[in-house]
Amino acid sequence: MTAPKSFSIQDIYDRIYAAISERRLLPGTKLSEEKLAEVFSTSRTRIREVLMRLNQELIVETHHNRGAFVASPSQEDLHKVFAVRCALERAVVQALAQKFKGQKATSLRQHLALEASARKAGDHATLAHLTGAFHVRLAEATDNHIFADSVRRLVALTGLVIAQFDADQSACPENEHDEIVKAIEAGNATGAEKLLLHHLNHVEKAIQTPEPIEETLDFAVLLGMSVAKSAPSSALSKKRKA
Ligand SMILES: [Zn+2]
Repeated sequence: MTAPKSFSIQDIYDRIYAAISERRLLPGTKLSEEKLAEVFSTSRTRIREVLMRLNQELIVETHHNRGAFVASPSQEDLHKVFAVRCALERAVVQALAQKFKGQKATSLRQHLALEASARKAGDHATLAHLTGAFHVRLAEATDNHIFADSVRRLVALTGLVIAQFDADQSACPENEHDEIVKAIEAGNATGAEKLLLHHLNHVEKAIQTPEPIEETLDFAVLLGMSVAKSAPSSALSKKRKA
């Protein structure tokens, strides 16, 4: 182990933030001030400052007398997040189509290349991170840091919901990012906006809670209120495991 370096508040924030948005720290995880202070070789006061900032950004929840936890957003929260993402990101791609028309969007192209190589390598964790980050890269490319900060926060919240519902999922379907970049480079604001909304709709749909198990199980049979018509009991138990 190397000698501990001194971390600035921003460093600590960045590390905790990355761990949450990359789903290394999952929703509901307790963020102990004491343990974090030890890890970063810093004071609890500085850790508290970082946790307060993450709390203002809705990424961390603080419970009176119990401390701070990685936020656990619900399906309804997800829906609200996507309503705001649609409003915000359509304005982002509109601004980009005006900015880039006829020019190559180099930073976005570089990002797409990273996504493609992670996809090729089957590196799902990196891909999940990169596909979320693509939306932040779009917002950054506007040179309006308020767009970038807002999208970054919403992407992190989206990551939290994905972590809660399906930790292995990379929510952005293949090729849709490329299509958006092409429309931006062509200066096609309306097209880019349409593709973006379509894409976010796909992403949101892909993060729905898993099908409730009730739909595949016959509760009347399972609770002994009715006899299975033809399925032997072994078939039922198989179904429950699947
Ligand atoms: Zn996407």
